[in-house]
Amino acid sequence: MPDEVGQWQELERRLRELCRIYGYGELRTPLFEATELFARGVGEGTDIVDKEMYNFTDRGGRNITLRPEGTAPVVRAFLEHNLARELPARFFYLGPMFRYERPQAGRMRQFHQFGFELFGESGPLADVEAIDLAWTTYRSLGVADVQIKINSLGCETCRAAFRDELRRRLEDRLEKLCGNCRARYQRNPLRILDCKNPECQAALADLPELVDFLCPECKAHFQGVKEGLSALGIPAVTEPKLVRGFDYYTRTVFEVTAAGLGSQDAIGGGGRYNNLVRELGGPAVPAVGFAAGLERILLVLAKYGIKLKEKDAPFVFMAPLGREAQAHAFELACQLKHQGIPAYVPLAEKSLKAQMKVANRQGVKWTLIIGDEELQKRRAILKKMSDGTQREISLAGISEAIANLYLEEGR
Ligand code: AMP
Repeated sequence: MPDEVGQWQELERRLRELCRIYGYGELRTPLFEATELFARGVGEGTDIVDKEMYNFTDRGGRNITLRPEGTAPVVRAFLEHNLARELPARFFYLGPMFRYERPQAGRMRQFHQFGFELFGESGPLADVEAIDLAWTTYRSLGVADVQIKINSLGCETCRAAFRDELRRRLEDRLEKLCGNCRARYQRNPLRILDCKNPECQAALADLPELVDFLCPECKAHFQGVKEGLSALGIPAVTEPKLVRGFDYYTRTVFEVTAAGLGSQDAIGGGGRYNNLVRELGGPAVPAVGFAAGLERILLVLAKYGIKLKEKDAPFVFMAPLGREAQAHAFELACQLKHQGIPAYVPLAEKSLKAQMKVANRQGVKWTLIIGDEELQKRRAILKKMSDGTQREISLAGISEAIANLYLEEGR
């Protein structure tokens, strides 16, 4: 609705501005892609691919999916346009995503994400840059109270060793796990770690942690990330059970949460994905990225009473009384609008009282009262709404007077 859209526009404007400062260029991918892209990119066995995708067959018999996330489409575009020629490359996106989830506060089936991707850098500083940009995103909006959790999922080698150990240790407590986790046991056992079910968490209590399984290179990388973050004063906390819902992550994963949002407290998440570009048919290009939900950011802002932008209101409100005055006011309002000054004029005759009510409701700065009587004298009354003071002004000079006021205090 128009009132809310002002907040959206300002949020989007600020996100774009931040990306300009960090050197990320906007990439706009289509709202739909071939189903296969997500099946391969996000991964079979993930909740998104198995349960949440909007799939359909088009008239040509192709399997199509409304995009549930932005990374796979960005990688597809990156490869299709041969962007790996010039690395590193930085992109951001902003737009709707679709997931068939059970709607609740902060979770909808069409929602919006802001996300960014950095290609072609494998060192820990790239992860630090991504986490810093994610962190700065919230800070620049005035949300100070966010938590950043980080973890390392290692590479294929160390993760495989951990996965085997996890399966072995969970084998005799399968009946204690929820139905979802029992299904995950075979297909994607790492996902059991961040199940919200308290009984599953209890069953996991004494299990080894992923960080203990990291190979020396992955360990050194994770250490580098932590040091980089601490040098910037970014208070990231290691959360050994953080795994996130995508298959493509390698090494660093991170999540941003905000207090006071209830169960949907994740306001953004990301991580490193060193294999995705290759898996989608490209060269071996390491990458790291992040995505945030705009609805959730706006929920946090509302919670903290942060308004990004005041409601748009007309600068001047015409309050004509009588037929002749009405025609004159209409003409004047049109002239002002042609000069770029937001002016409002009622399109039919109304009483002064009714008109002032509208002017107050809209929050205008000035009201111009023109009665038929004043019109005879070629004069009108200009009223300042903030303090109620008014003065008489000649009709001939009115356009110029309002233009001057607008220059002084309009924006
Ligand atoms: P993900 O792509 O699952 O890592 O999600 C990144 C962010 O998008 C989350 O932290 C949420 O802020 C937001 N998000 C994910 N799913 C939804 C949804 N169904 N409705 C609203 N926001 C969502």
